[in-house]
Amino acid sequence: MTTTTSVTGWQRDAALIGGEWRVVGETVDVHDPATGATIGTSASCTVADVDDAVTAARDALAEWSTATPAHRADVLDALVSELRARRDDLVAATVAEVGAPLTVAREAHIDLGIEIMADFAGLARTFEWQTTIGNSRVLRRAAGVVAAITPWNYPFYQLVAKAGAALAAGCPIVVKPAELTPLSTYLFADAAIAAGVPAGVFSLVPGPGRVVGAALAEHPGVDVVSFTGSTGVGKTIAVAAAQNIKRACLELGGKSASVVLDDADLDEAIRTSVAAGLLNSGQTCSAWSRLLVPRGRYEDALAIAADAVAAMRVGDPTDESTDIGPVISAAQRTSIVSAIDGALARGARLVCGGPDPLPEFPGGHFVAPTVLADLPADDPAVRDEIFGPIVVVLPHDGDDHAVQLANDSEYGLAGAVWSGDTDRAIAVAARIDTGQVDVNGAPFNPRAPFGGWKASGLGRELGPVGLEEFTEITSIQL
Ligand code: NAD
Repeated sequence: MTTTTSVTGWQRDAALIGGEWRVVGETVDVHDPATGATIGTSASCTVADVDDAVTAARDALAEWSTATPAHRADVLDALVSELRARRDDLVAATVAEVGAPLTVAREAHIDLGIEIMADFAGLARTFEWQTTIGNSRVLRRAAGVVAAITPWNYPFYQLVAKAGAALAAGCPIVVKPAELTPLSTYLFADAAIAAGVPAGVFSLVPGPGRVVGAALAEHPGVDVVSFTGSTGVGKTIAVAAAQNIKRACLELGGKSASVVLDDADLDEAIRTSVAAGLLNSGQTCSAWSRLLVPRGRYEDALAIAADAVAAMRVGDPTDESTDIGPVISAAQRTSIVSAIDGALARGARLVCGGPDPLPEFPGGHFVAPTVLADLPADDPAVRDEIFGPIVVVLPHDGDDHAVQLANDSEYGLAGAVWSGDTDRAIAVAARIDTGQVDVNGAPFNPRAPFGGWKASGLGRELGPVGLEEFTEITSIQL
């Protein structure tokens, strides 16, 4: 790839199409959610730019999809090296555009993202591209051109989960990042150019979802659309994709439950669950935003939750000691505060936090980390994804009731079970209709399939199962 404009840093005015930076007609400002200050610009593409990017991707498809897996792995290794070289820039961009606290940006956004990219480079080498079933040779082949539409909450992580798998599978990819957080995706594009990713194999077309995202979802030249975002937009994309029978991989919302059984270490379970529920200001699709505790330990659990929140530091995301930064935008803050107000008006107990503004951060979009209790299972604050730093606590009357409450949700993305007896925890986990369950705070596994049941989505990302999403099958009978 070559560059034709001097796009650098956070001031961008171009799209990456067919290996060339193309200055597009309009730019939009990017803001720091902690201060409201303008920190950069992004290109804002048109449908014509999308057409050109998809055409360039189709032109690149034959060569990239038939390159040896070892060659693709070498290119991805080079890309990983370029990303590692930009690690501090990626962290700084993530702190600035998402408002993620420095430690969260470093560990959960960037280091994990680069690890996932490295994993896909390795998988390109080891993936079983060919298996045998009886007299059939079953080939896994690149599914074609991929469109990736990503959200603002983990922009870099979501990008690599899609781009790593698609590129390893042999699919050129056209990426549209969220309007609020394009900067880390620009840095990824810089890394792709420096790594020698061939022209057209990685393209970047920032712009409005309703224009650029919609054009990608319905484009006849796109074979797979991989979307992460809200369930509402996911439905729109599924409908658009159905028009030309393209595959839609949908990673959508969640309202995941952390289930604490009566023999669990209550202190550890509550503290870890609350921290996970509030991570990234609660703007995590897999956040454990519902905490189900034994009725007999309910008041103890609420006291521990309040204590855990009191120990958290809310503030400047560039400060190494900050635990909770701002939420992404003024609109998101308004929506979260109205969800808290509504719950309180319906009789919720405010365990800690609340809707009041934090006056020490003028211009920033901060919400106090909040724990709510005493709500019925059918309350909107228990059922709806709030996507802010809010955890609701409900009592349960034993394992069966806890499973029933955990499953009483339109979503099914993640979850947790806590017990002194691992077998008991596994038995409960296996009854929860959700994509992932962590037992007793087990670490995140970047190779395990990640994705949702029910309204949380279709398909899985990460690891070999995530790579399969970008393959098609040809069975040859012998
Ligand atoms: P969103 O759905 O508003 O936007 C996501 C992306 O879709 C953005 O790039 C946006 O520009 C684009 N878009 C918007 N309208 C579109 C349209 N009509 N056609 C095509 N594209 C369109 O979501 P968001 O507010 O950016 O992200 C928050 C949501 O994402 C939450 O609901 C969260 O749970 C979900 N999420 C899910 C996962 C997961 O893996 N399941 C991960 C992160 C976020």
